[in-house]
Amino acid sequence: MKSNVYFAKAISSSPQDRIGALQRILAQCAELMRYKNEEIVPVKITIGDVDCVYQVSPELVKTVVETIRAQQAKPFLFDTSVLYHGMRQNAVGHTALAQRKGYGYEKIGAPFIVADGVLGNDGKEFYLEAGHIKKVRVPSFVGMLESLVVLSHATGHIVSGYAGAIKNVAMGMSCRATKQVQHSSLKPNVITEKCTSCGCCIKICPVQAISLKEKKAFIDQSRCIGCGECLCACTFNAVSINWEEDPVIFCKRMVEVAHFVSRQFKKVFCITFAFDITKECDCMSHKNEKMAAQNIGILASSDMVSLDKATVDLALRHKVSDFFPDTKKVYTSMLEYAGHKGLGNLEYRLVEV
Ligand code: SF4
Ligand code: SF4
Repeated sequence: MKSNVYFAKAISSSPQDRIGALQRILAQCAELMRYKNEEIVPVKITIGDVDCVYQVSPELVKTVVETIRAQQAKPFLFDTSVLYHGMRQNAVGHTALAQRKGYGYEKIGAPFIVADGVLGNDGKEFYLEAGHIKKVRVPSFVGMLESLVVLSHATGHIVSGYAGAIKNVAMGMSCRATKQVQHSSLKPNVITEKCTSCGCCIKICPVQAISLKEKKAFIDQSRCIGCGECLCACTFNAVSINWEEDPVIFCKRMVEVAHFVSRQFKKVFCITFAFDITKECDCMSHKNEKMAAQNIGILASSDMVSLDKATVDLALRHKVSDFFPDTKKVYTSMLEYAGHKGLGNLEYRLVEV
């Protein structure tokens, strides 16, 4: 059976038009966004990096929050710390950046929480069945709350070719060590010039693979199991990871994490904002970023595979460069694997509202 994907066209850049399109989606999907009195509802967002201006705007996020609050439920916005250096690498900078970019409580009406703790390391661990990922660490509310709302900005991506709901859940709802494992199966190295010999990585390494050599941390590659703990522990950016990875394996790992996370909720509802569709994702894009497709509109579904498939199908039809045709093989393999794993349905019915 095909999954429904609701679609509201919004081709202009007018904030009013975009809010109007979102309100049509929210009205159409009222039954899919029904929450209990006092229910705590996590709303996954990405505020984008410092220079990114194309992430889902505070006004659109606020419109979703108001819909949840109108039911006397209690929404909160959340994200997790990113792998690479920058303000979002820990909760201190990430929270300050959220406030600066307009996602503070006074503007949105819901708090913004960095859900994996101060250094991106706090969460619960789970062991997965056979696949490309054996173990995940996710924010501790996963498995304790009933509902999840995922707000994603549709963009290109340097590895997977397309970043939408699946990537938002897989990367954005896992702690830094699990992000590292999704990005790379290769083992980290220490940049000796940056190492202060603080010893934090040595204490946290579960297999005693790190020692001090000539007053600098040294990783014994034959012992290292690639868990990523040292990456989280080092606050001096002295632990480096390999960003080059087989794109298809990277995508499969993301699917497995997204599948695990989504199964921990009774109800998942995803909204994808398909305008300002940049070639780079919101971690890398800036105000002069090249576009990969024209503005399309807003899509929503309780099936994140159908939602991502419908969005890339529309992006291909409205492409302004060869980016999506060129990367099709990679994101198609991601969606096919997602369908195969049971994360969702590749077949969808587009319902225009
Ligand atoms: S945590 Fe970082 S700075 Fe401290 S010893 Fe390890 S690599 Fe060096
Ligand atoms: S990745 Fe894990 S196992 Fe390898 S050195 Fe770092 S903490 Fe130790």
